[in-house]
Amino acid sequence: MSTERSTYEVTATRKRPQDFDRLVGQDFVVSTLENAIKENRIAHAYLFSGPRGVGKTSSARLLAKALNCEKGMSAHPCGECESCRAIAKGSSVDVIEIDGASNTSVNDIRAIKEEIMFPPQSSRYKIYIIDEVHMLSTSAFNALLKTIEEPPEYIIFIFATTELQKVPATIRSRCQQFRFQLISQDLIMKCLASAAEDIGIKADEDALFWIAKEATGSMRDAYTLFDQVAAFSGDHITLQKIREKLAIAGFSAISSIISAVLSGDHKTAMENLSGLFADGVSAEQITKDAADYFRTLLLYKEGIRRTDILGSAIQDIPEDIVAMLSREQLEAALKAFLSLYRDLRYSLSPRFEIELLFSRLASLPDLTSPEILVRKIEDLKNGVAEGSVVIRKKVQRVIEAAPAIAETAQEATEKKPEKKEESQSMVPQPEQEDEEEPSPAEDIAEEESRPFSLSDIPAAAEMLSKMGKTVAARYLEAVESISEKDDGSYFITLSKPLAYNNLKLAEKDVSKAISSVMGYPVAIKLRLEEKKALTDDDFSDDMKRLKAFLGGKLIKTETAGQNTPDEGKGAGNYESIRNVEADEFDPEQPQ
Ligand SMILES: [Zn+2]
Repeated sequence: MSTERSTYEVTATRKRPQDFDRLVGQDFVVSTLENAIKENRIAHAYLFSGPRGVGKTSSARLLAKALNCEKGMSAHPCGECESCRAIAKGSSVDVIEIDGASNTSVNDIRAIKEEIMFPPQSSRYKIYIIDEVHMLSTSAFNALLKTIEEPPEYIIFIFATTELQKVPATIRSRCQQFRFQLISQDLIMKCLASAAEDIGIKADEDALFWIAKEATGSMRDAYTLFDQVAAFSGDHITLQKIREKLAIAGFSAISSIISAVLSGDHKTAMENLSGLFADGVSAEQITKDAADYFRTLLLYKEGIRRTDILGSAIQDIPEDIVAMLSREQLEAALKAFLSLYRDLRYSLSPRFEIELLFSRLASLPDLTSPEILVRKIEDLKNGVAEGSVVIRKKVQRVIEAAPAIAETAQEATEKKPEKKEESQSMVPQPEQEDEEEPSPAEDIAEEESRPFSLSDIPAAAEMLSKMGKTVAARYLEAVESISEKDDGSYFITLSKPLAYNNLKLAEKDVSKAISSVMGYPVAIKLRLEEKKALTDDDFSDDMKRLKAFLGGKLIKTETAGQNTPDEGKGAGNYESIRNVEADEFDPEQPQ
Protein backbone atom coordinates (compact mmCIF):
# COMPACT_ATOMS: atom_id res chain seq x y z
CA MET A 1 0.00 0.00 0.00
CA SER A 2 1.07 3.54 -0.62
CA THR A 3 2.46 5.58 2.21
CA GLU A 4 1.03 8.78 0.81
CA ARG A 5 -0.42 10.96 3.52
CA SER A 6 -2.60 13.97 3.47
CA THR A 7 -1.15 17.13 4.88
CA TYR A 8 -4.01 17.84 7.23
CA GLU A 9 -4.12 16.54 10.77
CA VAL A 10 -4.70 12.81 10.65
CA THR A 11 -8.33 11.92 11.09
CA ALA A 12 -7.72 9.44 13.88
CA THR A 13 -6.22 12.24 15.97
CA ARG A 14 -8.72 14.85 14.89
CA LYS A 15 -11.62 12.54 15.67
CA ARG A 16 -10.18 11.23 18.91
CA PRO A 17 -13.01 11.52 21.41
CA GLN A 18 -12.54 14.24 24.00
CA ASP A 19 -15.69 13.18 25.79
CA PHE A 20 -17.21 9.81 26.63
CA ASP A 21 -20.21 10.77 24.50
CA ARG A 22 -17.97 10.82 21.45
CA LEU A 23 -16.49 7.40 22.10
CA VAL A 24 -18.18 5.23 19.48
CA GLY A 25 -19.20 1.63 19.67
CA GLN A 26 -18.39 1.01 23.35
CA ASP A 27 -21.68 1.94 24.97
CA PHE A 28 -21.39 -0.57 27.80
CA VAL A 29 -17.89 0.58 28.76
CA VAL A 30 -18.94 4.22 28.60
CA SER A 31 -22.05 3.87 30.73
CA THR A 32 -20.24 1.79 33.36
CA LEU A 33 -17.38 4.26 33.64
CA GLU A 34 -19.74 7.24 33.74
CA ASN A 35 -21.74 5.66 36.56
CA ALA A 36 -18.61 4.79 38.53
CA ILE A 37 -17.37 8.37 38.30
CA LYS A 38 -20.76 9.78 39.23
CA GLU A 39 -20.95 7.55 42.28
CA ASN A 40 -17.33 8.11 43.17
CA ARG A 41 -16.49 4.43 43.01
CA ILE A 42 -12.95 4.70 41.77
CA ALA A 43 -10.83 1.57 41.44
CA HIS A 44 -7.07 1.68 41.67
CA ALA A 45 -6.47 -0.55 38.70
CA TYR A 46 -8.41 -0.84 35.46
CA LEU A 47 -7.81 -3.32 32.71
CA PHE A 48 -9.09 -2.43 29.24
CA SER A 49 -8.96 -5.33 26.80
CA GLY A 50 -10.07 -5.68 23.20
CA PRO A 51 -8.93 -5.51 19.59
CA ARG A 52 -6.62 -2.79 18.37
CA GLY A 53 -7.99 0.56 17.37
CA VAL A 54 -11.33 0.33 19.11
CA GLY A 55 -10.79 3.05 21.70
CA LYS A 56 -8.92 1.55 24.67
CA THR A 57 -6.22 4.22 24.87
CA SER A 58 -8.72 6.97 24.12
CA SER A 59 -10.89 5.69 26.94
CA ALA A 60 -7.90 5.58 29.29
CA ARG A 61 -7.16 9.23 28.55
CA LEU A 62 -10.81 10.16 28.90
CA LEU A 63 -10.90 8.44 32.25
CA ALA A 64 -7.73 10.29 33.31
CA LYS A 65 -9.32 13.57 32.28
CA ALA A 66 -12.53 12.77 34.09
CA LEU A 67 -10.62 11.95 37.26
CA ASN A 68 -8.28 14.93 37.15
CA CYS A 69 -10.43 17.76 35.76
CA GLU A 70 -9.81 20.86 37.80
CA LYS A 71 -13.52 21.67 37.74
CA GLY A 72 -14.18 18.53 39.71
CA MET A 73 -14.26 14.85 39.02
CA SER A 74 -16.86 14.32 36.32
CA ALA A 75 -17.93 11.96 33.57
CA HIS A 76 -18.00 15.08 31.43
CA PRO A 77 -14.66 16.79 32.02
CA CYS A 78 -14.55 20.47 31.04
CA GLY A 79 -11.85 20.03 28.41
CA GLU A 80 -10.66 23.57 29.07
CA CYS A 81 -8.78 23.52 32.34
CA GLU A 82 -5.03 23.13 32.55
CA SER A 83 -5.26 19.43 33.38
CA CYS A 84 -7.77 18.60 30.64
CA ARG A 85 -5.73 20.38 28.01
CA ALA A 86 -2.46 18.84 29.17
CA ILE A 87 -3.94 15.35 29.06
CA ALA A 88 -5.37 15.96 25.59
CA LYS A 89 -1.91 17.04 24.44
CA GLY A 90 -0.23 14.17 26.28
CA SER A 91 1.85 16.52 28.39
CA SER A 92 0.32 16.13 31.83
CA VAL A 93 3.00 15.41 34.44
CA ASP A 94 0.55 13.39 36.49
CA VAL A 95 -0.71 11.17 33.67
CA ILE A 96 2.14 8.92 32.62
CA GLU A 97 1.76 6.79 29.51
CA ILE A 98 4.02 3.76 29.28
CA ASP A 99 4.33 1.42 26.36
CA GLY A 100 4.42 -2.05 27.84
CA ALA A 101 6.03 -3.35 24.68
CA SER A 102 9.22 -1.35 25.21
CA ASN A 103 9.31 -1.30 29.01
CA THR A 104 9.06 -4.94 29.74
CA SER A 105 11.80 -5.50 32.30
CA VAL A 106 11.51 -5.73 36.03
CA ASN A 107 13.78 -2.68 36.30
CA ASP A 108 11.24 -0.57 34.44
CA ILE A 109 8.62 -1.64 36.93
CA ARG A 110 11.00 -0.93 39.85
CA ALA A 111 11.39 2.59 38.51
CA ILE A 112 7.62 2.96 38.50
CA LYS A 113 7.47 1.60 42.05
CA GLU A 114 9.89 4.27 43.21
CA GLU A 115 8.04 6.98 41.32
CA ILE A 116 4.69 6.21 42.82
CA MET A 117 6.05 7.11 46.27
CA PHE A 118 5.77 10.73 45.14
CA PRO A 119 2.26 12.16 45.10
CA PRO A 120 0.82 13.93 42.01
CA GLN A 121 2.23 17.39 41.40
CA SER A 122 -0.87 19.29 40.47
CA SER A 123 -3.72 16.82 40.14
CA ARG A 124 -6.05 14.71 42.19
CA TYR A 125 -4.51 11.46 40.98
CA LYS A 126 -1.24 10.21 39.57
CA ILE A 127 -2.37 8.00 36.73
CA TYR A 128 -0.25 5.38 34.95
CA ILE A 129 -1.57 4.23 31.59
CA ILE A 130 0.34 1.09 30.57
CA ASP A 131 -0.42 0.04 27.03
CA GLU A 132 0.15 -3.50 25.74
CA VAL A 133 0.58 -4.62 29.31
CA HIS A 134 0.69 -8.28 28.27
CA MET A 135 4.22 -7.66 26.94
CA LEU A 136 5.64 -7.32 30.45
CA SER A 137 7.94 -10.10 31.63
CA THR A 138 6.83 -12.44 34.38
CA SER A 139 9.15 -10.84 36.93
CA ALA A 140 7.86 -7.41 35.91
CA PHE A 141 4.32 -8.65 36.48
CA ASN A 142 5.30 -9.95 39.89
CA ALA A 143 6.84 -6.61 40.82
CA LEU A 144 3.74 -4.85 39.54
CA LEU A 145 1.47 -7.16 41.48
CA LYS A 146 2.82 -5.97 44.85
CA THR A 147 2.34 -2.38 43.74
CA ILE A 148 -1.26 -2.70 42.68
CA GLU A 149 -2.17 -4.74 45.74
CA GLU A 150 -1.67 -1.79 48.05
CA PRO A 151 -1.08 1.34 46.05
CA PRO A 152 -1.04 4.79 47.64
CA GLU A 153 -4.46 6.45 47.61
CA TYR A 154 -3.49 8.85 44.83
CA ILE A 155 -2.27 6.18 42.38
CA ILE A 156 -4.43 4.76 39.57
CA PHE A 157 -3.27 2.21 37.00
CA ILE A 158 -5.03 1.84 33.67
CA PHE A 159 -3.77 -1.18 31.75
CA ALA A 160 -4.65 -1.80 28.15
CA THR A 161 -4.13 -4.99 26.20
CA THR A 162 -5.07 -6.63 22.95
CA GLU A 163 -4.28 -10.04 24.42
CA LEU A 164 -6.10 -10.48 27.66
CA GLN A 165 -5.22 -14.15 27.95
CA LYS A 166 -1.53 -13.24 28.26
CA VAL A 167 -2.16 -11.10 31.30
CA PRO A 168 -1.64 -13.23 34.43
CA ALA A 169 -4.80 -14.10 36.31
CA THR A 170 -3.29 -12.60 39.48
CA ILE A 171 -3.15 -9.20 37.77
CA ARG A 172 -6.51 -9.53 36.12
CA SER A 173 -8.25 -10.38 39.35
CA ARG A 174 -6.98 -7.19 40.97
CA CYS A 175 -8.29 -4.94 38.21
CA GLN A 176 -11.68 -3.69 37.24
CA GLN A 177 -12.01 -5.15 33.76
CA PHE A 178 -13.59 -3.70 30.66
CA ARG A 179 -13.86 -5.55 27.40
CA PHE A 180 -13.93 -3.41 24.30
CA GLN A 181 -15.79 -4.60 21.23
CA LEU A 182 -15.04 -4.41 17.54
CA ILE A 183 -16.89 -1.50 16.06
CA SER A 184 -19.67 -2.36 13.63
CA GLN A 185 -19.23 -1.65 9.96
CA ASP A 186 -22.32 0.56 9.94
CA LEU A 187 -20.97 2.70 12.74
CA ILE A 188 -17.57 2.96 11.07
CA MET A 189 -19.28 4.07 7.86
CA LYS A 190 -21.19 6.76 9.73
CA CYS A 191 -18.00 8.03 11.33
CA LEU A 192 -16.22 8.04 7.98
CA ALA A 193 -19.09 9.93 6.35
CA SER A 194 -18.85 12.49 9.14
CA ALA A 195 -15.08 12.71 8.73
CA ALA A 196 -15.50 13.31 4.99
CA GLU A 197 -18.08 15.99 5.66
CA ASP A 198 -15.74 17.69 8.14
CA ILE A 199 -13.09 18.19 5.48
CA GLY A 200 -15.57 18.96 2.69
CA ILE A 201 -14.99 15.86 0.59
CA LYS A 202 -17.74 13.96 -1.20
CA ALA A 203 -17.55 10.23 -0.54
CA ASP A 204 -19.47 7.49 -2.35
CA GLU A 205 -21.19 4.99 -0.11
CA ASP A 206 -19.58 1.96 -1.76
CA ALA A 207 -16.17 3.51 -1.24
CA LEU A 208 -16.83 4.09 2.45
CA PHE A 209 -18.28 0.58 2.64
CA TRP A 210 -15.02 -0.78 1.30
CA ILE A 211 -12.92 1.23 3.76
CA ALA A 212 -15.13 0.19 6.66
CA LYS A 213 -14.84 -3.43 5.60
CA GLU A 214 -11.06 -3.26 5.33
CA ALA A 215 -10.87 -1.75 8.79
CA THR A 216 -12.39 -4.96 10.22
CA GLY A 217 -13.88 -3.26 13.23
CA SER A 218 -11.00 -0.94 14.08
CA MET A 219 -11.93 2.74 14.06
CA ARG A 220 -8.29 3.79 14.02
CA ASP A 221 -7.54 1.59 10.97
CA ALA A 222 -10.62 2.97 9.26
CA TYR A 223 -9.48 6.57 9.80
CA THR A 224 -5.93 5.77 8.68
CA LEU A 225 -7.17 4.16 5.48
CA PHE A 226 -9.63 6.99 4.99
CA ASP A 227 -6.77 9.52 5.15
CA GLN A 228 -4.80 7.51 2.65
CA VAL A 229 -7.77 7.35 0.25
CA ALA A 230 -8.69 11.01 0.78
CA ALA A 231 -5.12 11.99 -0.11
CA PHE A 232 -5.42 10.74 -3.70
CA SER A 233 -9.13 11.21 -4.23
CA GLY A 234 -9.32 14.96 -4.69
CA ASP A 235 -12.76 16.21 -3.71
CA HIS A 236 -14.58 12.96 -4.40
CA ILE A 237 -13.83 9.53 -2.95
CA THR A 238 -14.98 6.75 -5.29
CA LEU A 239 -14.48 3.00 -5.30
CA GLN A 240 -13.03 3.26 -8.80
CA LYS A 241 -10.25 5.54 -7.60
CA ILE A 242 -9.57 3.25 -4.68
CA ARG A 243 -9.31 0.26 -7.00
CA GLU A 244 -6.92 2.04 -9.31
CA LYS A 245 -4.72 3.61 -6.68
CA LEU A 246 -4.63 0.84 -4.15
CA ALA A 247 -4.55 -1.93 -6.74
CA ILE A 248 -7.28 -4.06 -5.27
CA ALA A 249 -9.26 -6.62 -7.22
CA GLY A 250 -12.53 -6.18 -5.38
CA PHE A 251 -15.65 -8.26 -5.29
CA SER A 252 -17.05 -7.46 -8.72
CA ALA A 253 -13.78 -8.09 -10.58
CA ILE A 254 -13.38 -11.47 -8.90
CA SER A 255 -17.06 -12.19 -9.43
CA SER A 256 -16.81 -11.66 -13.18
CA ILE A 257 -13.77 -13.95 -13.46
CA ILE A 258 -15.42 -16.73 -11.50
CA SER A 259 -18.69 -16.42 -13.43
CA ALA A 260 -16.72 -16.75 -16.66
CA VAL A 261 -14.84 -19.82 -15.40
CA LEU A 262 -18.00 -21.55 -14.24
CA SER A 263 -19.80 -20.85 -17.50
CA GLY A 264 -16.93 -22.40 -19.41
CA ASP A 265 -15.64 -19.13 -20.82
CA HIS A 266 -12.06 -19.81 -19.93
CA LYS A 267 -10.71 -17.24 -22.34
CA THR A 268 -12.56 -14.29 -20.80
CA ALA A 269 -11.68 -15.49 -17.32
CA MET A 270 -7.96 -15.61 -18.05
CA GLU A 271 -8.06 -12.26 -19.86
CA ASN A 272 -9.77 -10.59 -16.92
CA LEU A 273 -7.33 -12.17 -14.51
CA SER A 274 -4.47 -10.97 -16.64
CA GLY A 275 -6.03 -7.49 -16.57
CA LEU A 276 -5.86 -7.45 -12.77
CA PHE A 277 -2.16 -8.32 -12.83
CA ALA A 278 -1.63 -5.63 -15.45
CA ASP A 279 -3.31 -3.11 -13.12
CA GLY A 280 -0.72 -3.96 -10.54
CA VAL A 281 -2.97 -5.97 -8.26
CA SER A 282 -0.73 -8.31 -6.30
CA ALA A 283 -1.10 -12.08 -6.26
CA GLU A 284 -1.79 -11.90 -2.52
CA GLN A 285 -4.52 -9.33 -3.05
CA ILE A 286 -6.24 -11.38 -5.77
CA THR A 287 -6.07 -14.49 -3.62
CA LYS A 288 -7.39 -12.62 -0.61
CA ASP A 289 -10.22 -11.08 -2.62
CA ALA A 290 -11.14 -14.48 -4.09
CA ALA A 291 -11.22 -16.01 -0.61
CA ASP A 292 -13.36 -13.08 0.44
CA TYR A 293 -15.70 -13.73 -2.47
CA PHE A 294 -16.28 -17.37 -1.60
CA ARG A 295 -16.67 -16.58 2.07
CA THR A 296 -19.39 -14.08 1.19
CA LEU A 297 -21.17 -16.59 -1.06
CA LEU A 298 -20.95 -19.28 1.60
CA LEU A 299 -22.45 -17.02 4.26
CA TYR A 300 -25.12 -15.89 1.82
CA LYS A 301 -25.93 -19.53 1.03
CA GLU A 302 -26.38 -20.10 4.74
CA GLY A 303 -29.02 -17.40 4.83
CA ILE A 304 -27.00 -14.50 6.18
CA ARG A 305 -28.17 -11.18 4.75
CA ARG A 306 -26.44 -8.64 6.99
CA THR A 307 -24.01 -6.76 4.82
CA ASP A 308 -21.64 -6.10 7.71
CA ILE A 309 -21.18 -9.86 8.10
CA LEU A 310 -21.24 -10.66 4.39
CA GLY A 311 -18.75 -7.89 3.68
CA SER A 312 -20.53 -7.14 0.46
CA ALA A 313 -23.66 -5.40 -0.72
CA ILE A 314 -26.57 -7.79 -1.32
CA GLN A 315 -27.12 -6.60 -4.89
CA ASP A 316 -23.54 -7.57 -5.80
CA ILE A 317 -24.01 -11.20 -4.84
CA PRO A 318 -24.44 -13.45 -7.89
CA GLU A 319 -27.55 -15.48 -7.10
CA ASP A 320 -26.95 -17.88 -10.00
CA ILE A 321 -23.53 -18.88 -8.69
CA VAL A 322 -24.89 -19.29 -5.17
CA ALA A 323 -27.62 -21.54 -6.56
CA MET A 324 -25.20 -23.49 -8.75
CA LEU A 325 -22.76 -24.45 -6.01
CA SER A 326 -23.42 -26.47 -2.91
CA ARG A 327 -22.32 -25.45 0.53
CA GLU A 328 -19.53 -28.05 0.38
CA GLN A 329 -18.33 -26.78 -2.96
CA LEU A 330 -18.20 -23.18 -1.75
CA GLU A 331 -16.32 -24.35 1.32
CA ALA A 332 -13.85 -26.23 -0.84
CA ALA A 333 -13.22 -23.15 -2.97
CA LEU A 334 -12.74 -20.97 0.10
CA LYS A 335 -10.32 -23.51 1.57
CA ALA A 336 -8.40 -23.68 -1.69
CA PHE A 337 -7.83 -19.91 -1.77
CA LEU A 338 -6.96 -19.70 1.91
CA SER A 339 -4.45 -22.46 1.46
CA LEU A 340 -3.03 -20.80 -1.65
CA TYR A 341 -2.66 -17.58 0.33
CA ARG A 342 -0.51 -19.44 2.86
CA ASP A 343 1.58 -21.06 0.14
CA LEU A 344 2.07 -18.02 -2.09
CA ARG A 345 5.26 -16.82 -0.49
CA TYR A 346 6.97 -20.14 -1.18
CA SER A 347 5.76 -20.26 -4.73
CA LEU A 348 8.05 -19.99 -7.73
CA SER A 349 5.30 -18.22 -9.62
CA PRO A 350 2.37 -16.91 -7.62
CA ARG A 351 0.71 -15.85 -10.84
CA PHE A 352 0.76 -19.39 -12.27
CA GLU A 353 -0.62 -20.75 -9.03
CA ILE A 354 -3.52 -18.33 -9.19
CA GLU A 355 -4.25 -19.05 -12.84
CA LEU A 356 -4.18 -22.75 -12.11
CA LEU A 357 -6.56 -22.44 -9.19
CA PHE A 358 -9.00 -20.29 -11.15
CA SER A 359 -8.90 -22.86 -13.97
CA ARG A 360 -9.62 -25.63 -11.54
CA LEU A 361 -12.75 -23.83 -10.41
CA ALA A 362 -14.32 -24.97 -13.67
CA SER A 363 -14.68 -28.44 -12.17
CA LEU A 364 -16.02 -27.09 -8.91
CA PRO A 365 -19.65 -28.05 -9.68
CA ASP A 366 -18.52 -31.69 -10.05
CA LEU A 367 -16.72 -31.73 -6.78
CA THR A 368 -18.00 -34.07 -4.15
CA SER A 369 -16.90 -33.44 -0.64
CA PRO A 370 -15.57 -36.15 1.67
CA GLU A 371 -18.69 -35.52 3.74
CA ILE A 372 -20.93 -36.44 0.82
CA LEU A 373 -18.83 -39.50 0.07
CA VAL A 374 -19.05 -40.60 3.66
CA ARG A 375 -22.82 -40.11 3.51
CA LYS A 376 -23.05 -42.18 0.32
CA ILE A 377 -20.99 -44.97 1.87
CA GLU A 378 -23.27 -44.88 4.90
CA ASP A 379 -26.32 -45.17 2.65
CA LEU A 380 -24.72 -48.09 0.87
CA LYS A 381 -23.93 -49.77 4.17
CA ASN A 382 -27.49 -49.33 5.36
CA GLY A 383 -28.71 -50.60 2.01
CA VAL A 384 -26.71 -53.78 2.43
CA ALA A 385 -27.98 -54.23 5.95
CA GLU A 386 -31.56 -53.82 4.73
CA GLY A 387 -30.99 -56.12 1.79
CA SER A 388 -31.74 -53.52 -0.85
CA VAL A 389 -28.13 -53.57 -2.01
CA VAL A 390 -26.19 -56.71 -2.72
CA ILE A 391 -22.45 -56.66 -2.56
CA ARG A 392 -20.79 -59.53 -4.26
CA LYS A 393 -17.50 -59.91 -5.97
CA LYS A 394 -18.21 -59.11 -9.54
CA VAL A 395 -18.21 -62.12 -11.75
CA GLN A 396 -17.42 -61.15 -15.28
CA ARG A 397 -18.98 -64.07 -16.97
CA VAL A 398 -22.53 -63.50 -18.02
CA ILE A 399 -24.57 -66.53 -18.22
CA GLU A 400 -26.44 -66.76 -21.43
CA ALA A 401 -28.70 -69.66 -21.85
CA ALA A 402 -30.17 -70.91 -25.07
CA PRO A 403 -32.34 -68.15 -26.43
CA ALA A 404 -35.19 -70.56 -26.97
CA ILE A 405 -36.60 -73.08 -24.59
CA ALA A 406 -39.91 -74.67 -24.29
CA GLU A 407 -42.88 -73.22 -22.59
CA THR A 408 -45.58 -74.33 -20.29
CA ALA A 409 -48.47 -76.47 -21.19
CA GLN A 410 -50.96 -73.67 -20.98
CA GLU A 411 -49.05 -71.46 -23.34
CA ALA A 412 -48.81 -74.30 -25.78
CA THR A 413 -52.55 -74.88 -25.78
CA GLU A 414 -53.50 -71.24 -25.88
CA LYS A 415 -51.59 -70.54 -29.04
CA LYS A 416 -53.45 -68.35 -31.47
CA PRO A 417 -53.41 -69.13 -35.16
CA GLU A 418 -52.20 -65.63 -36.03
CA LYS A 419 -48.62 -65.00 -35.28
CA LYS A 420 -46.52 -61.97 -35.44
CA GLU A 421 -43.05 -62.39 -36.65
CA GLU A 422 -41.96 -58.88 -35.81
CA SER A 423 -43.49 -58.44 -32.47
CA GLN A 424 -40.87 -56.39 -30.68
CA SER A 425 -42.85 -53.18 -30.79
CA MET A 426 -46.09 -54.70 -29.59
CA VAL A 427 -44.96 -55.38 -26.10
CA PRO A 428 -43.35 -52.58 -24.24
CA GLN A 429 -40.05 -53.47 -22.72
CA PRO A 430 -40.04 -53.04 -19.00
CA GLU A 431 -38.12 -50.08 -17.73
CA GLN A 432 -34.57 -50.91 -16.90
CA GLU A 433 -33.87 -48.82 -13.85
CA ASP A 434 -36.87 -47.61 -11.98
CA GLU A 435 -38.70 -50.59 -10.66
CA GLU A 436 -36.14 -52.87 -9.24
CA GLU A 437 -37.48 -54.87 -6.41
CA PRO A 438 -35.04 -55.24 -3.64
CA SER A 439 -34.89 -58.77 -2.42
CA PRO A 440 -35.52 -59.35 1.24
CA ALA A 441 -32.57 -59.45 3.52
CA GLU A 442 -31.92 -62.96 4.53
CA ASP A 443 -28.24 -62.76 4.79
CA ILE A 444 -25.59 -60.27 3.92
CA ALA A 445 -23.93 -61.45 0.79
CA GLU A 446 -20.48 -62.80 1.08
CA GLU A 447 -17.79 -61.73 -1.27
CA GLU A 448 -17.27 -65.13 -2.77
CA SER A 449 -20.93 -66.10 -3.22
CA ARG A 450 -21.73 -68.12 -6.28
CA PRO A 451 -23.53 -66.05 -8.92
CA PHE A 452 -27.13 -66.84 -9.63
CA SER A 453 -27.49 -68.77 -12.87
CA LEU A 454 -29.91 -70.79 -14.92
CA SER A 455 -28.92 -73.96 -13.13
CA ASP A 456 -30.48 -72.51 -9.98
CA ILE A 457 -33.87 -72.12 -11.62
CA PRO A 458 -35.22 -75.59 -10.82
CA ALA A 459 -34.39 -75.19 -7.15
CA ALA A 460 -35.92 -71.72 -7.13
CA ALA A 461 -39.05 -73.06 -8.80
CA GLU A 462 -39.27 -75.77 -6.21
CA MET A 463 -38.95 -73.19 -3.48
CA LEU A 464 -41.75 -71.17 -5.07
CA SER A 465 -43.94 -74.26 -5.08
CA LYS A 466 -43.22 -74.79 -1.41
CA MET A 467 -44.24 -71.19 -0.85
CA GLY A 468 -47.57 -72.08 -2.46
CA LYS A 469 -46.84 -70.10 -5.61
CA THR A 470 -47.26 -72.99 -7.99
CA VAL A 471 -48.23 -70.90 -11.00
CA ALA A 472 -45.18 -68.69 -10.68
CA ALA A 473 -43.08 -71.77 -10.06
CA ARG A 474 -44.13 -73.19 -13.36
CA TYR A 475 -43.56 -69.99 -15.30
CA LEU A 476 -40.17 -69.57 -13.74
CA GLU A 477 -39.06 -72.60 -15.72
CA ALA A 478 -39.61 -70.55 -18.86
CA VAL A 479 -36.70 -68.26 -18.01
CA GLU A 480 -34.45 -68.00 -21.01
CA SER A 481 -31.41 -66.27 -19.78
CA ILE A 482 -30.00 -64.66 -16.71
CA SER A 483 -27.43 -61.94 -16.83
CA GLU A 484 -25.75 -60.07 -14.08
CA LYS A 485 -25.87 -56.30 -14.09
CA ASP A 486 -23.05 -54.04 -12.96
CA ASP A 487 -24.82 -53.26 -9.71
CA GLY A 488 -24.97 -56.94 -8.78
CA SER A 489 -28.63 -57.46 -9.60
CA TYR A 490 -29.83 -59.83 -12.31
CA PHE A 491 -31.83 -59.55 -15.45
CA ILE A 492 -34.12 -62.50 -15.83
CA THR A 493 -35.14 -62.64 -19.44
CA LEU A 494 -38.26 -64.28 -20.75
CA SER A 495 -39.44 -64.38 -24.31
CA LYS A 496 -43.07 -65.20 -23.63
CA PRO A 497 -45.43 -62.47 -22.53
CA LEU A 498 -47.60 -64.94 -20.64
CA ALA A 499 -44.68 -66.19 -18.60
CA TYR A 500 -43.38 -62.65 -18.16
CA ASN A 501 -46.75 -61.32 -17.01
CA ASN A 502 -47.36 -64.08 -14.55
CA LEU A 503 -43.89 -63.85 -13.07
CA LYS A 504 -44.17 -60.07 -12.93
CA LEU A 505 -47.24 -60.46 -10.71
CA ALA A 506 -45.23 -62.64 -8.36
CA GLU A 507 -41.92 -60.83 -8.71
CA LYS A 508 -41.40 -60.37 -4.97
CA ASP A 509 -42.01 -64.03 -4.30
CA VAL A 510 -39.69 -65.01 -7.13
CA SER A 511 -36.97 -62.82 -5.67
CA LYS A 512 -37.59 -64.30 -2.24
CA ALA A 513 -37.37 -67.84 -3.56
CA ILE A 514 -34.17 -67.20 -5.49
CA SER A 515 -32.60 -65.43 -2.49
CA SER A 516 -33.52 -68.35 -0.32
CA VAL A 517 -31.93 -70.81 -2.75
CA MET A 518 -28.78 -68.74 -3.20
CA GLY A 519 -28.36 -67.93 0.48
CA TYR A 520 -27.98 -64.19 -0.06
CA PRO A 521 -30.35 -61.43 -1.16
CA VAL A 522 -30.69 -61.46 -4.90
CA ALA A 523 -32.21 -58.46 -6.62
CA ILE A 524 -33.88 -59.40 -9.86
CA LYS A 525 -35.43 -57.62 -12.74
CA LEU A 526 -37.73 -59.35 -15.15
CA ARG A 527 -37.28 -58.58 -18.79
CA LEU A 528 -39.41 -59.55 -21.73
CA GLU A 529 -37.45 -60.11 -24.87
CA GLU A 530 -39.27 -61.76 -27.68
CA LYS A 531 -37.44 -63.92 -30.11
CA LYS A 532 -37.94 -64.55 -33.73
CA ALA A 533 -38.16 -68.08 -34.95
CA LEU A 534 -34.76 -69.56 -34.89
CA THR A 535 -33.06 -72.18 -36.96
CA ASP A 536 -30.45 -74.59 -35.81
CA ASP A 537 -27.88 -72.32 -37.41
CA ASP A 538 -28.61 -69.75 -34.75
CA PHE A 539 -27.14 -71.98 -32.13
CA SER A 540 -23.55 -72.61 -31.43
CA ASP A 541 -22.61 -76.14 -30.53
CA ASP A 542 -22.46 -75.15 -26.89
CA MET A 543 -25.89 -73.62 -27.12
CA LYS A 544 -27.28 -76.70 -28.77
CA ARG A 545 -25.97 -78.79 -25.94
CA LEU A 546 -27.39 -76.40 -23.41
CA LYS A 547 -30.71 -76.39 -25.22
CA ALA A 548 -30.81 -80.13 -25.11
CA PHE A 549 -29.99 -80.02 -21.44
CA LEU A 550 -32.64 -77.47 -20.61
CA GLY A 551 -35.14 -79.18 -22.85
CA GLY A 552 -34.81 -82.21 -20.67
CA LYS A 553 -35.72 -80.17 -17.69
CA LEU A 554 -38.77 -78.84 -19.37
CA ILE A 555 -40.34 -82.22 -19.62
CA LYS A 556 -40.25 -82.19 -15.89
CA THR A 557 -42.08 -78.88 -15.91
CA GLU A 558 -44.85 -80.34 -17.95
CA THR A 559 -45.31 -82.84 -15.23
CA ALA A 560 -45.40 -80.10 -12.67
CA GLY A 561 -47.86 -78.27 -14.83
CA GLN A 562 -50.17 -81.25 -14.97
CA ASN A 563 -50.22 -81.27 -11.23
CA THR A 564 -51.51 -77.74 -11.15
CA PRO A 565 -55.27 -78.06 -11.50
CA ASP A 566 -56.07 -74.68 -13.01
CA GLU A 567 -53.27 -74.41 -15.47
CA GLY A 568 -52.07 -77.87 -16.13
CA LYS A 569 -54.26 -78.73 -19.08
CA GLY A 570 -52.93 -79.82 -22.39
CA ALA A 571 -49.39 -80.49 -21.39
CA GLY A 572 -46.87 -82.32 -23.46
CA ASN A 573 -47.79 -81.13 -26.93
CA TYR A 574 -44.40 -80.03 -28.14
CA GLU A 575 -43.03 -81.21 -31.40
CA SER A 576 -39.90 -79.25 -31.20
CA ILE A 577 -38.56 -76.33 -29.33
CA ARG A 578 -38.37 -74.33 -32.49
CA ASN A 579 -42.04 -74.67 -33.29
CA VAL A 580 -43.03 -73.60 -29.85
CA GLU A 581 -40.83 -70.57 -30.20
CA ALA A 582 -42.53 -69.52 -33.36
CA ASP A 583 -46.01 -70.05 -32.04
CA GLU A 584 -45.68 -68.44 -28.71
CA PHE A 585 -46.58 -64.79 -29.10
CA ASP A 586 -50.02 -63.77 -28.01
CA PRO A 587 -50.81 -60.09 -28.59
CA GLU A 588 -53.95 -60.24 -26.50
CA GLN A 589 -52.25 -61.18 -23.34
CA PRO A 590 -52.58 -58.48 -20.70
CA GLN A 591 -49.40 -56.67 -19.97
ZN1 LIG B 1 -11.12 20.04 32.99
